[in-house]
Amino acid sequence: MPVRQPMPTQPSDERAHNFNEVALGYTPEQAVSEAGRCIECKKPQCVKGCPVNIDIPAFIRSMKNSDFDGAIEKIKETNSLPAICGRVCPQETQCEMYCVLGKKEEPVAIGRLERFCADHEREKGVKTPQRTPSTGKRVAVVGSGPAGLAAASDLAKTGHEVTIFEALHAAGGVLIYGIPEFRLPKDIVQKEVDYIVQLGVDIKPDYVIGKIKTIDELKEEFDAIFIGTGAGLPNFMGIGGENLNGVYSANEFLTRVNLMKAYQFPKYDTPIKRGKRVIVVGGGNVAMDAARCALRLGAEEVSIVYRRSDDELPARREEIEHAKEEGIIFRLLTNPVKILGDENLMVTGAECIKMKLGEPDDSGRRRPQEIKGSEHVVDADIVIMAIGTSPNPLIFEGAGELEASKWGTIIVDESGMTSIEGVCAGGDVVTGAATVISAMGAGKLAAVTINEYLK
Ligand SMILES: Cc1cc2nc3c(=O)[nH]c(=O)nc-3n(C[C@H](O)[C@H](O)[C@H](O)COP(=O)(O)OP(=O)(O)OC[C@H]3O[C@@H](n4cnc5c(N)ncnc54)[C@H](O)[C@@H]3O)c2cc1C
Repeated sequence: MPVRQPMPTQPSDERAHNFNEVALGYTPEQAVSEAGRCIECKKPQCVKGCPVNIDIPAFIRSMKNSDFDGAIEKIKETNSLPAICGRVCPQETQCEMYCVLGKKEEPVAIGRLERFCADHEREKGVKTPQRTPSTGKRVAVVGSGPAGLAAASDLAKTGHEVTIFEALHAAGGVLIYGIPEFRLPKDIVQKEVDYIVQLGVDIKPDYVIGKIKTIDELKEEFDAIFIGTGAGLPNFMGIGGENLNGVYSANEFLTRVNLMKAYQFPKYDTPIKRGKRVIVVGGGNVAMDAARCALRLGAEEVSIVYRRSDDELPARREEIEHAKEEGIIFRLLTNPVKILGDENLMVTGAECIKMKLGEPDDSGRRRPQEIKGSEHVVDADIVIMAIGTSPNPLIFEGAGELEASKWGTIIVDESGMTSIEGVCAGGDVVTGAATVISAMGAGKLAAVTINEYLK
């Protein structure tokens, strides 16, 4: 059995200084060879791990015969964002986790094959999709992240007239403002958004629901609504010094880098502080992205400060390894207790304390406990907080009956319907911060529910 094809990448010493994509993608030969590893199980398990139900065995079968057009056609039957998913989905805990090869050796690289097919199609020129004749029903989608885009795409394919209302000036949600260029190039996101527009979806940017119009007002104009407004409100630790100059939320920092294009300096002179010594607090994908962006903006030292150990780091292993290769320092079992500043209120560092792991908490992870007397100072001129986000409560303004949980997430039933009839919700605004593919799965489920409702 041939071994899993490695993903070609930019060398770490080069990529640490540029925003070009880290992973370079398979060649056609590598893609066919990797597809050839699939043993075509009689009862394939991989699809079970895909929240958008891609017919994985069928697309891989086409790839074995170098029929890349047939493969992307199959993928796009259920997934309108394959170039995105092929890049950022945590396949190791989804489709690839169920691949039977994984029991004895490495699973088939399903995500990399999906990416290859999408890139192959884009390089050739994506076929304009046929529009479905209109049902005459109008659906409003609030938010253009993966949840909103997936819902809009499926609703448009059914023939409904779909309008997306997006608060920011560009569509894509976290895909456009959060995940950095070196992991997910913005022109690729734009091309996949363009495809959804070609399906007939109208996108209204700079349109904040809860301010310009409310859910109750949209109810008057539209036959059904999908809310996919994400969880973009950053959490802070509530420690001293968080209001000092030089403390960012990861969301703000990444928005300045990506959406406001600080990564294209000097073409765009985006206001952003470029630190020499940067601390990023947190251990998830967001923390890795913020740290790697700070490095690429020219920092001399960037450290991740995380209160648990390497085993508990919630980011994808691949991202952690890439960050380490690029020279990011990991200060594990460490937690900041205070951000320090000078007389001009500029950040000078963080007072941190060492931690040890105690008994497991409700989440099953071992609870971090402070080690008294281990306080120490880490010098820094920027501190970036990447410790989680919550839904923005603005969406509830003028949304009379919309029920929320105590965490501020929208409550839905198993079909994705909220407490208001005809209004569905899904993605991070329902689950709290999760993944691109789970948001897409929720958007697709809501599209099915809305179709039923509109019948
Ligand atoms: C930096 C970062 C890196 C990540 N990396 C990964 C990864 O590698 N893999 C992965 O699977 N997941 C990753 N995630 C998580 C993933 O991006 C999210 O789970 C996913 O984007 C959620 O999709 P969504 O559509 O629910 O919300 P979002 O993507 O947040 O989109 C919501 C959209 O709604 C808009 N909106 C909000 N309020 C309103 C309003 N009132 N009116 C109109 N529009 C509104 C927002 O502007 C936004 O465009 C990452 C997240 C971040 C922040």
